[in-house]
Amino acid sequence: MSARAILTAYRGTNRITESTALASGRLFGLCDQVPAIMHPKRLAGLRKVLELKRDQLTQTLAKTADASRAIGEAVGGDEGEEAAAASNRDFLSAQGFSLREQLILVKDALIRLDTGEFGICEECGRAVNLKRLEAVPWTRYCRDCQQEVESEIGSSGER
Ligand SMILES: [Zn+2]
Repeated sequence: MSARAILTAYRGTNRITESTALASGRLFGLCDQVPAIMHPKRLAGLRKVLELKRDQLTQTLAKTADASRAIGEAVGGDEGEEAAAASNRDFLSAQGFSLREQLILVKDALIRLDTGEFGICEECGRAVNLKRLEAVPWTRYCRDCQQEVESEIGSSGER
């Protein structure tokens, strides 16, 4: 099977078998355009990064939940105090929400590692640049599609 044939087969499907990925990895070597799935060692490194991030987020979320509960319990009868506590709760839950979103992204990336879909842009189905994957391993899109998604969302402040 030629390198071109494998690449064509790869681009034609979202799910590729492990043997195809390994064969492609051997053929393509360190080509920058090849997704991380084709480099088993790099893939293992990215998995570690993702697992660490998942654990950190889980811990931070647990702490945030604790702090939120503590504030809830401390609410007194005074109206001013109650307003302050409420705004603190809002702040924490807003923070918790974005952490939860990050956690979902990280968990999804770990699932994609297991299913062999990691490193493939969800929008265009093409390989995500390896440097981008190493910088943001939980990304769902290639750089071009991320920019398009962001311009669709507008300036909401999301990455
Ligand atoms: Zn894309």
